[in-house]
Amino acid sequence: MADNDLRRTVIELETALQNERERMRALRRVALRSLAVLSAREPDLEGAVHDLTRVIEEDPEDTRALDRMSARLADTMRQHDQREAMDEAVLSAVQTGLGTFPFLAEDLAGVRQSAERGDTDLVRRNLARVFSALEENCGQALAEREQLTEVMSEIRSRLNDVDSALSADQDHSERTKESIRELQKNITGDVSTIKGRVIDITDIDTMRREVIDGLDGVADRVKDFRDTREAELLAAMERNRALRTRSQQLARQVADLRDRLSEARDEASRDKLTGLLNRNAFDQRMAELRPDAGPVSLIVWDIDHFKRVNDEYGHTSGDRILRAVAEVLAEGVQKPDFVARYGGEEFVMVVHQPLEAARDLADCLRREVASIQVKAGSKRLKVTISGGVADIRADAPEGSAFELADKALLAAKRQGRDRIVAVSSG
Ligand code: GH3
Ligand code: MG
Ligand code: MG
Repeated sequence: MADNDLRRTVIELETALQNERERMRALRRVALRSLAVLSAREPDLEGAVHDLTRVIEEDPEDTRALDRMSARLADTMRQHDQREAMDEAVLSAVQTGLGTFPFLAEDLAGVRQSAERGDTDLVRRNLARVFSALEENCGQALAEREQLTEVMSEIRSRLNDVDSALSADQDHSERTKESIRELQKNITGDVSTIKGRVIDITDIDTMRREVIDGLDGVADRVKDFRDTREAELLAAMERNRALRTRSQQLARQVADLRDRLSEARDEASRDKLTGLLNRNAFDQRMAELRPDAGPVSLIVWDIDHFKRVNDEYGHTSGDRILRAVAEVLAEGVQKPDFVARYGGEEFVMVVHQPLEAARDLADCLRREVASIQVKAGSKRLKVTISGGVADIRADAPEGSAFELADKALLAAKRQGRDRIVAVSSG
């Protein structure tokens, strides 16, 4: 690999790493702020909040501590969310604490709007989205940052190898030039010594001996020079060979690291619990939707009375249900359609079909979910989901289909759950 390519790769990775660092710093600030708000509002959480605050403040570079912190933070927030709808003060603290994040902007706007309308149901749903987006981004930043740091340090050490081999070669060629100059100087000196010695000699035999001796001296000098040169040349060849091998190793390693990085990115686009795409990946795919792809519809799903399941059977059973629902939904879509866990117990699906067909598909999946049973200890649990469907029009403003589908979902909930409501954006 050319040295320049390598340097470009390093610069690229350094920039990515720097971005991750900034993201982490911002997340840490927010975490501290949110924790302060929580401990002020919830005296019984003070112990946990104190612990977390210490961890974040003491060792800001410890990624594992941050990872644990983000998980516990999200959990704490979730528990808080479960207890009751947040009041005005908490809402505004969340708003100022999290307002700096572009990836939360939309959800925060949702929280604000629903709070203004006094729709507590919607406030809770939007807040849950804010916290899962925060959790997801924190986890992803950590994973990427770890990978990037590893890649960077390997590349840096290889680059140092190459650099020192190159500068050894440069030193060597400088030394060679220097010793040639010295040889020339010495030979010129030898020749003038011979000249000086023979100038007054009249006896031809003596003169011949002097000249031969003098020339023998020059020949010895040249031989010495050649011997040293040869040794140096051999050493240089050896260095070159080693350098080539190292460069090849480096090229292989960089390719390998790139693969690992892209695998890590792939992993970062998946939700760990269900294996579905996560919300970041979903947003990315949405942005890549081609406006000329024909009719496209969006389905927003939400598990019915999921809080009750958690309360009655525990979080582990809740997680099992989440996985089972995700599996049914995943089996219901084929490329180029896609489904993602949008956060918590919400899923979103994009299907390349007109509204009516999308509604039928959604209804089919709804019935499928209602027919499964999930094992929880000796019990078998049943679960239902509701869905809101809207068509995505090429000329509609961004996010409007989502808003419509979301409203349709809410209507489905209000009409009694376990049903699909479709609305046309036309
Ligand atoms: P509705 O029918 O109106 O949607 O009622 P609900 O109880 O499902 O809605 P609500 O938004 O009140 O509750 C959602 C619950 O989902 C609360 C939260 O504890 C739970 N939840 C969110 N994420 C997870 C998770 O990853 N695992 C588990 N087990 N529960 C989760
Ligand atoms: Mg929900
Ligand atoms: Mg629900």
